[in-house]
Amino acid sequence: MAIQHPDIQPAVNHSVQVAIAGAGPVGLMMANYLGQMGIDVLVVEKLDKLIDYPRAIGIDDEALRTMQSVGLVDNVLPHTTPWHAMRFLTPKGRCFADIQPMTDEFGWPRRNAFIQPQVDAVMLTSMAAEKYLEPKNPCVLTGLPVRAEFFTADKEKSRLELGVDSRPLILSSGGSLGAEPINKAMVELIAERAPKGDCCFIHATGHNGTWVADELKKRGVDPDKFENVTIREYIDDMSRCMAACDLFINRAGASTLSEIEALGKPSILIPSPYVAENHQYHNAMTLVEKNAAVVIEEKNLTGEKLVGEVEKLLSDRAALDKMGENAREMCVRDAAKRIYDCLCKVVG
Ligand SMILES: Cc1cc2nc3c(=O)[nH]c(=O)nc-3n(C[C@H](O)[C@H](O)[C@H](O)COP(=O)(O)OP(=O)(O)OC[C@H]3O[C@@H](n4cnc5c(N)ncnc54)[C@H](O)[C@@H]3O)c2cc1C
Repeated sequence: MAIQHPDIQPAVNHSVQVAIAGAGPVGLMMANYLGQMGIDVLVVEKLDKLIDYPRAIGIDDEALRTMQSVGLVDNVLPHTTPWHAMRFLTPKGRCFADIQPMTDEFGWPRRNAFIQPQVDAVMLTSMAAEKYLEPKNPCVLTGLPVRAEFFTADKEKSRLELGVDSRPLILSSGGSLGAEPINKAMVELIAERAPKGDCCFIHATGHNGTWVADELKKRGVDPDKFENVTIREYIDDMSRCMAACDLFINRAGASTLSEIEALGKPSILIPSPYVAENHQYHNAMTLVEKNAAVVIEEKNLTGEKLVGEVEKLLSDRAALDKMGENAREMCVRDAAKRIYDCLCKVVG
């Protein structure tokens, strides 16, 4: 006669069409698919509960399409940040892989990171972000490290290298890829201000903004003839250009904001609205609250609005410089050390 061990539950009889071993992402997804097709499924999991801690840092577009096909993508998206770039460095700091898939040709951004507030340490560039998280542990203000040039670049030397005279220099771009609404507004601003000859412009159009120079020509401001107008596709000497400028117009990505703070520059920020939970706007507002920047939301951006803001800022030099100083005061100068200290604390 068989003896039943008191800790072992008697077997339960199930009659199903499909049995799946393992309630991992693959098992659960298969169960979802099959269940939605009306097929009886039994999922057998060796653990007594599902793993409820994060085991991934990122999710690609293919996995998002899989989520979409079982109707779960709207539950997943709020936990992700899209277009997440990654750089892998050697111990000596040489970049051996730069993953920046900024496309969504298959329906979803190619690479997305998970927002993981339940991790052991959350490092922030602004403590104002803490209220949007439900962190397991108190958040730490570490700031975001920027390249050393952003601390050392000299304004006068940079202006000399760029061939800029004593007139105020307005540097502008729509982020590394450029942005159509910013290009359009900048055409208005440059067409309005450049002929007056009282300030200089360096504008980066991005890959899709090759039309900007032609449009300016049509508006009577040929960049080849106006020595105070420089139109580039991309700025690969950003620390020099930023150090040289008197006013910076740009998106409000986290690195950009840290660079603005490191150099102490007044700025007009036009946050990208196409980011998770509008975080560029909220990050930009931390500078606005300290009177260190002006924000124009993309939905309110017109050439006229930009012309007005620039007019106002350039008309009061002392106030403009004060904005820059306020930005500099927000800079966390030892961000890398703070991050290192935080990591040491976590790993013990
Ligand atoms: C450190 C790390 C980082 C990763 N980062 C990412 C990332 O950023 N993005 C990404 O997309 N992927 C990432 N992955 C990969 C991802 O976690 C796996 O691809 C995914 O979990 C695989 O799912 P799965 O269902 O096949 O297996 P698992 O997740 O391993 O699930 C298997 C399940 O089967 C159960 N099981 C095992 N044996 C039995 C048994 N005999 N009977 C019943 N149940 C059983 C286990 O308990 C488990 O619950 C990462 C993996 C690791 C280890």
